[in-house]
Amino acid sequence: MKPLLWFAGMAFAVGAQAAPQEPLWAMVKKEQPVAVETLRDLVNIESGSRDKEGLDRLAAFLGERLVALGGKIEYYEPTPADTHRLYDTPNELGKVVIARFAGTGTRRIMLLAHMDTVYAHGTLGKRPYRVEGSRAYGPGIADDKSGVAVILHTLSLLEALDFRDYGALTVVINGDEELSSPGTRKLIQSIGAEHEFVFSCEPTSTKHDEIALATSGIGSASLTVRGKSAHAGVNPELGRNAIIELAHQLLQTNDLSDAERGIKFNWTLSSGGNTRNVIAELATASADVRVRRLSDFDVIEKRFRDRVQSKLIPDTHVEAGFERRRAPLEVTEASRALAKKAQGIYAEMGRSLLVDETGNGVGTDAAFAAGSGEPATAEGFGLAGYGYHSSEEEYVDLDSIEPRLYLLTRLIMDTARGR
Ligand SMILES: [Zn+2]
Repeated sequence: MKPLLWFAGMAFAVGAQAAPQEPLWAMVKKEQPVAVETLRDLVNIESGSRDKEGLDRLAAFLGERLVALGGKIEYYEPTPADTHRLYDTPNELGKVVIARFAGTGTRRIMLLAHMDTVYAHGTLGKRPYRVEGSRAYGPGIADDKSGVAVILHTLSLLEALDFRDYGALTVVINGDEELSSPGTRKLIQSIGAEHEFVFSCEPTSTKHDEIALATSGIGSASLTVRGKSAHAGVNPELGRNAIIELAHQLLQTNDLSDAERGIKFNWTLSSGGNTRNVIAELATASADVRVRRLSDFDVIEKRFRDRVQSKLIPDTHVEAGFERRRAPLEVTEASRALAKKAQGIYAEMGRSLLVDETGNGVGTDAAFAAGSGEPATAEGFGLAGYGYHSSEEEYVDLDSIEPRLYLLTRLIMDTARGR
């Protein structure tokens, strides 16, 4: 079977016809309905980032599937020592499923996705899995159960082709991505550093069929203002109003976004005071920060800290905080070359693939995987999805299964063979 495949590949390279390679294309078409069943099974195990029991069930399910595909499985439980604790990190984090496939070649390729979702346990009861036309609905179905399904069925195609021309093919499925990967960022970076290529499988959007070579770095800025309480009716002049000082600070830091550098700085949370007739003693606020370059974290942190020096109410105490939650993925020449290859593969299906180099404000684990500077990394190999991280119902476009399975399978084959 193998020599035949080699000839088929060579014939197309020479002929440069816009037609998908056989027998892979026919196999992808057969795989499509099986992948839909996998999507259903993945959605039917709820796995919110804080639902440890659900995450454990899904990890066990994935472990079994990956063993059946021939992988050597390992489960990684985040330890307190290796956890980069953020203000919203829960005590228990989901584990990571790692599957290693050893091949006969030299190239080392990593596939990355995450099994946790942003939804609380019980959401599935209200929005059960269902298919309507070419859409499959369910909590987390796009982000990122679609990426997990693409990986499982790409592996199944490679197995059916008896393809082992890579040196190592490593699958990493994370369980705390939606919490900014506090317990797994180190692991993902160190596994990434062992590989030459990382294909990260977050969903693409139903509006643009694309992959991304850049993602945003995400930070958060915070302000804690301490004033002095006093009776609001009897002697308000003795108080120092933390809410008013916070309002002053928010207004004077409200223009820190920098469109030219791609820095976004937006206040998103605030609270203050606790009794209507008492001058507020405490007020707090948090801002969401996005950057395109790692060095811009320093730029924006300095601008923020400089700006909050001036106060409106002298006797209040203003404390500024700045947290780097997630690094950005930055474009490299190697990742551009990967994208070119991917566009060539899409062209065989008569499709065009967009390549995003701006990050669009989204942050993912691809940046951690690429953190060592070692692997060429691209993001967005999951299915076309809609409504993730929103109050709208999340769905995937089932018509994106075939092109996406073909793309990832071919890309693995080509990079493994050094093409
Ligand atoms: Zn995601």
